[in-house]
Amino acid sequence: MVQTTQVLKEEQDMQFELTKEYAIKQDQLDPLASIRKQFYIPTQSNGEEHIYLCGNSLGLQPKTTRNYIDQELKDWEKYGVEGHFHAKRPWMPYHEFLTKSMAKIVGAKEEEVVVMNTLTVNLHLMMVSFYRPTKERYKILIESDAFPSDIYAVESQIKFHGFDVESGVIKAKPREGEVCLRTEDLLKIIEEQGDEIALIMLGGVNYYTGQYFNTKEITKAGHAKGCKVGFDMAHGAGNIKLQLHDDGPDFAVWCSYKYINSGPGSLAGCFVHERHKHNKSLPRFAGWWGHDKATRFNMRYDFSPIPGAEGWQLSNPPILSMAALKASLDIFDSVGMGALELKSRKLTAYMESLMEPLGEEVLSVITPKDNTQRGCQMSIQIKNANKEIYEKITKDGVIADWREPDVIRTAAVPLYNSFEDVYRFVDILKRHLN
Ligand SMILES: *Cc1c(COP(=O)(O)O)cnc(C)c1O
Repeated sequence: MVQTTQVLKEEQDMQFELTKEYAIKQDQLDPLASIRKQFYIPTQSNGEEHIYLCGNSLGLQPKTTRNYIDQELKDWEKYGVEGHFHAKRPWMPYHEFLTKSMAKIVGAKEEEVVVMNTLTVNLHLMMVSFYRPTKERYKILIESDAFPSDIYAVESQIKFHGFDVESGVIKAKPREGEVCLRTEDLLKIIEEQGDEIALIMLGGVNYYTGQYFNTKEITKAGHAKGCKVGFDMAHGAGNIKLQLHDDGPDFAVWCSYKYINSGPGSLAGCFVHERHKHNKSLPRFAGWWGHDKATRFNMRYDFSPIPGAEGWQLSNPPILSMAALKASLDIFDSVGMGALELKSRKLTAYMESLMEPLGEEVLSVITPKDNTQRGCQMSIQIKNANKEIYEKITKDGVIADWREPDVIRTAAVPLYNSFEDVYRFVDILKRHLN
């Protein structure tokens, strides 16, 4: 860890030149530059490519996706139900073809990971197993500006168990005048109120600020107090090199349509730590796809879960979506999170340097400066909540997003964004600030 931090610090001090020539030069030197060609970049009505900085919301389509889906359509055409066994990638075990790549992306063992359902569904399934409130310990700790779906999920679970939502949700707030949460403040809440907290459930990377929490420290502190710990890694998976196994939370969930480029509404991932692998007594909402594979088709009524994350599956999965995900995961396998992380840090630091001279009076970057606390998302707070600026850059071909009340979120995604994209974005932004 010390070594990594050292390297990261050096990268953080990188010096950049703020010219377009320099950006173009960096693209020429970038070993990952050619990967961009494997993706469709949306084009404007004038035929020019958009500056697409929205991979944090919906990742772009790999050019191979269509072939992967076509393969399943062909196999369905050719085999009908027999495709479960005879398709090129048989449907029966299809989810298993995704596990290894997904486990690598989130830093987990294969038996700790499964692709199933969608994100909020998985969050509920995990809470069924890991939110087990008692009268003395029924609270859930979450960040105050968590993604709304996570808040709804958490609150509805508390209500479902018959507890009071008002006192049941502890929302960790940033300090007065600050936007990001400090780890030390989170640890203090856990230290002081941990005995009443049944579950710590945080967005591991906050969707609004892009802040990456110290998942290891938080998990350790939570476990020391007897809390269960889970993370929503929707903004972490495929963005930051996660280490879920070593960091040790009880569970994590994430979607694959953001940084993992699997297409709108596609499937989600779920991590259950190895320590729960053989625990059949954990309460869970069960379905036949989670049942022991050897006897699943005996159609008997005694549920015997597959050991590990697979045991939480409910249904036989949507193969067309899985095919799209497979196309994307094959790209991740060919590049690796290590190389992606290196480029990501450079690109993001470059964007930060370009933005620095623009001045605090018009905007401020609210994403942490410390690059161990962020991935490639860069959230830019616009003074006086002037949404016009966002509308103008959009007209000029930038695809980013506006999050109320006053933030433009951007993400320079290392798989398909270039240094030139970043340069052009800040250049357009600058033009509209005056
Ligand atoms: C994107 C996102 C969601 C969306 O949930 P779905 O179930 O996929 O619609 C939920 N939570 C977080 C933190 C997200 O970033």
